[in-house]
Amino acid sequence: MSFILQGIGVSEGIAIGHAHLAAPAALEVMHYLIPKHQVDKEIARLNAAFAAVRTEFEALQQSVVDGHARAEFSAFLELHLMILDDPTLSDAARDMIAQTHCNAEWALTQQMQALLLQFEEIEDAYLRERKADVVQVVERVLKAMMGHPGYLPIASKHTGDSILIAHDLSPADVMQYKQHQFVAFLTDLGSQTSHTAIVARSLNIPSIVALHHAHQLIQEDDCLIVDGTQGIIIVNPDRYVLDEYRLRQGQLELERKKLQRIKGIAAITLDGTPIDLYANIELPEDIAQVKEGGATGIGLFRSEFLFLNRDDLPGEDEQFEAYRTVAVKMHKQPVTIRTFDLGADKNLKGSTQVAANPALGLRAIRLSLAEPRMFHTQLRAILRASKYGDVRILIPMLSNVSEIDQTLHLIEYAKQTLRDDKIHFDEHIKVGGMIEIPAAALCLDMFMRKLDFLSIGTNDLIQYTLAVDRIDDTVAHLYDPLHPAVLWLVSHIIQSAKRAEVPVSICGEMAGDKQFTRLLLGFGLQQFSMYSAQLLTVKNQILKSHLPDIVPLSQKILKADHPEKMATLLARLNDGV
Ligand code: PEP
Ligand code: MG
Repeated sequence: MSFILQGIGVSEGIAIGHAHLAAPAALEVMHYLIPKHQVDKEIARLNAAFAAVRTEFEALQQSVVDGHARAEFSAFLELHLMILDDPTLSDAARDMIAQTHCNAEWALTQQMQALLLQFEEIEDAYLRERKADVVQVVERVLKAMMGHPGYLPIASKHTGDSILIAHDLSPADVMQYKQHQFVAFLTDLGSQTSHTAIVARSLNIPSIVALHHAHQLIQEDDCLIVDGTQGIIIVNPDRYVLDEYRLRQGQLELERKKLQRIKGIAAITLDGTPIDLYANIELPEDIAQVKEGGATGIGLFRSEFLFLNRDDLPGEDEQFEAYRTVAVKMHKQPVTIRTFDLGADKNLKGSTQVAANPALGLRAIRLSLAEPRMFHTQLRAILRASKYGDVRILIPMLSNVSEIDQTLHLIEYAKQTLRDDKIHFDEHIKVGGMIEIPAAALCLDMFMRKLDFLSIGTNDLIQYTLAVDRIDDTVAHLYDPLHPAVLWLVSHIIQSAKRAEVPVSICGEMAGDKQFTRLLLGFGLQQFSMYSAQLLTVKNQILKSHLPDIVPLSQKILKADHPEKMATLLARLNDGV
């Protein structure tokens, strides 16, 4: 049966391929009672699932013996086999089915909850952390009962045209998919500027989030057309629709190739104003794409991604290597390393603290100042890397001038320890601040006196100005970059920085969205930082823009008091000139 699903397109383009359902929300199970005469059958269903997972684990173990996987993986499998065979899990679930006649999935999750509560009581931190392993094993058994495939997430037989579908993924999960070959990426939850969407966009494949029930409605191996620009998926399309989309796909590919022609050209407006086009990265591996996009610097290195998907913290040497690699590969072009912006939706593995309002909690610089040792390690690593290029430090989520004072003090302390150790670094390293909280934008003069440069984080600036959670798709319609308050703040920051002669850039998603390029140029922006895949499209806009024509229209948009009027003016700005 063919049908269409609508979500929020977060990465443009068209992909055609086959569905691969990854990490289903297995723990959200059905609860129902079964008739007495079916109890044995229900227990047999549970047993079969346990047996299937056992076979799966044993096959994986074999691959370890054959040398295809690493030793830690072997130890991890041993542990999961032990949990699988533990009677406190399986026997108790069987008893529960026999006594209360609940379905097998319900019984298993109830027993899991009981075990997790017992784990809470354990004093030994290592054992307490094994909770996650119990959950993973239970998920595996539940998936086996639901007929979902394999332990390894990427076992689709359609290698080369797999479309990943997940209910929800954390930014850390998405990072793991950077290694894999998908042609598109879809999730039930998410919103335009959630970090999950941002990382998905960096994979440079069509992506759609907030599809709500895609994960339930789409079957493994279904044929899909993903239109990331419109935010729609066509499930099991007929031949004519497929042909139409193949044609469009070909046209897009042609346009992409045409854009390559401007890769080596400097980004200068028609009236001769040079514009810096920088790239946003998460890991040193992203540099290949940065070169592809022709960026002339790194405007945002989201260093916190070095801290995700691991049990330990990256040490000073490891961080230094990562930062140095980027600095060296960028050949003295600016490399702006944002100190770790952990917290909110990017958490360290095993972190159990759940704040009531994580986006307003101990995040970014607040966390760094609360964890001075961890911060010191990072600062030393960045300073050491500064010897190898034009490295800069960027402080995220500033809300208070005292945070700058404390950070500058800690940087000075890190410098002193390096001097004591006779390690060279750039004594004059520039320190900038992210302006992403309205309080910082409103008191900008105080901030600018202490900082060498500014970077506007529009993703958070919009979230905090409009009080709209950027990761909650139920309020995604209120997340509006064109809200007059947002535009006023962005324009105010750019103009104030220009007056004070403090360099200012935008590194939030607005910078990479071509519908805002001219508006931001009109506000006076001369430095943009975005994902590499967006660079040439934005450059194309810049090359066709004439500032003396753009500025008056941008000012009109700033003053527009009605969304419709604003949309008309924006269309005029983008079409005309
Ligand atoms: C921003 O908030 O705009 C930004 C660039 O930082 P992040 O998206 O990582 O919060
Ligand atoms: Mg931010």
